[in-house]
Amino acid sequence: MGRIFLEHLGGSRIFSCASCESALTNRAELISTRFTGATGRAFLFNKVVNINLSDVQDRMMLTGRHMVRDVSCKNCDAKLGWVYEFATEENQRYKEGRVILERALVSESEGFPDDEVGPAQSIENNNN
Ligand SMILES: [Zn+2]
Repeated sequence: MGRIFLEHLGGSRIFSCASCESALTNRAELISTRFTGATGRAFLFNKVVNINLSDVQDRMMLTGRHMVRDVSCKNCDAKLGWVYEFATEENQRYKEGRVILERALVSESEGFPDDEVGPAQSIENNNN
């Protein structure tokens, strides 16, 4: 399992539900790969879509007490991870509102390459 991924210029890595392939997020939203979930390695994301959230639960973790919601797939209801609602430790506050996806429960694939259509081409300059 590689810890460091090479940048794929022009492509974005897509993370999707391992059960039904629903797209959840991409590499641009990835904050950290240094988390651990019930199934092993887990990733912290800024934003994840196509998910359902459980009620808030009070959970004691290695890094202190947190209020979290379980995250499941909106399409197939598979468990995917959790979201940090509130962290009691000051230095853990950056995780609030962020989403953990467990690596074993998601699959990664390459997104559509977007380097063939340069973003600059869509900006027209009509200043003259
Ligand atoms: Zn799913």
